Amino acid sequence: METPDRLIQGMAMDGHFRVIAAQTTTAVETAREILDLAPVAAEALGRSMTGALLLARLLDKDVRNQYVSLRFEGNGPLGTVIADGTVAGTVRGFVANPAPDDPELDVETAIGNGSLTVIRGTPPAGKPYTSQILLAGTGIATDLTRYLMRSEQIASAVLLGVKNRRDGVAAAGGMVIQAFPHASDEAIAAIEKCVKDAPPLSTLLEKMPIEDAVATVLHGTGYKQIDAGHSVPVSYACQCTRERALAPLALLGQDEIQEMIDEGGTEVRCHFCGRRYEFTPDDLLTLTAKHEA
Ligand SMILES: [Zn+2]
Repeated sequence: METPDRLIQGMAMDGHFRVIAAQTTTAVETAREILDLAPVAAEALGRSMTGALLLARLLDKDVRNQYVSLRFEGNGPLGTVIADGTVAGTVRGFVANPAPDDPELDVETAIGNGSLTVIRGTPPAGKPYTSQILLAGTGIATDLTRYLMRSEQIASAVLLGVKNRRDGVAAAGGMVIQAFPHASDEAIAAIEKCVKDAPPLSTLLEKMPIEDAVATVLHGTGYKQIDAGHSVPVSYACQCTRERALAPLALLGQDEIQEMIDEGGTEVRCHFCGRRYEFTPDDLLTLTAKHEA
């Protein structure tokens, strides 16, 4: 009964609320396989990846290539967690320490105290916007809710869920409910009650497709999905290139580059997708030539 990953949109309370939701089960399972994530790492990264996708979609201002990058830098055992999502539905991620020693950790402890940096931009034009908040230790969804309020002045509720099973990710997804400025206090209270009373999203997603999970959470609010033609396929994808893989080597000292040349070349592995790029001594010589120039 597995359905393809996708982003969907809807409205609730007579159009006073916008809803964006994503099913990301396959993308998170792909990340788990590529990055060899322990369950808590899959849960942390899965929520982050889903959040990045939802934010890219939510903050999209009629641009087709907007991206949102979330960078969690906490003092927990996972170390840095990075998730990049685009408005087009591609997503990728990275966890510095994908397999912490303690298998009983919850996501909040595994990330720890620190900061969340949100970068959003529309390449190739313009400078990306960057903002940073402190992690409250109450979960990725509430951190994103606070970011939306403080940096984007968007009142919202964010729900994220990942369900692990013994052999991988059983379900992953999320939703963001945005209150438009004309939403009344009563309507906001009604939505808040729905969100509070709903079963965990991961539990719903394990049993039903994202469309039904959102309808279940927003039962009684007049929730309607906007035509299914708006649904966007989601996939784990990396935009790395040979040029970008080579670029960091140019920052190395002359001696280090010479050492690689003497060793017959080097290999760079992309942190996000695991792709390997081989560089021959000739490739590396172009870097030393740049040094001399
Ligand atoms: Zn890559």
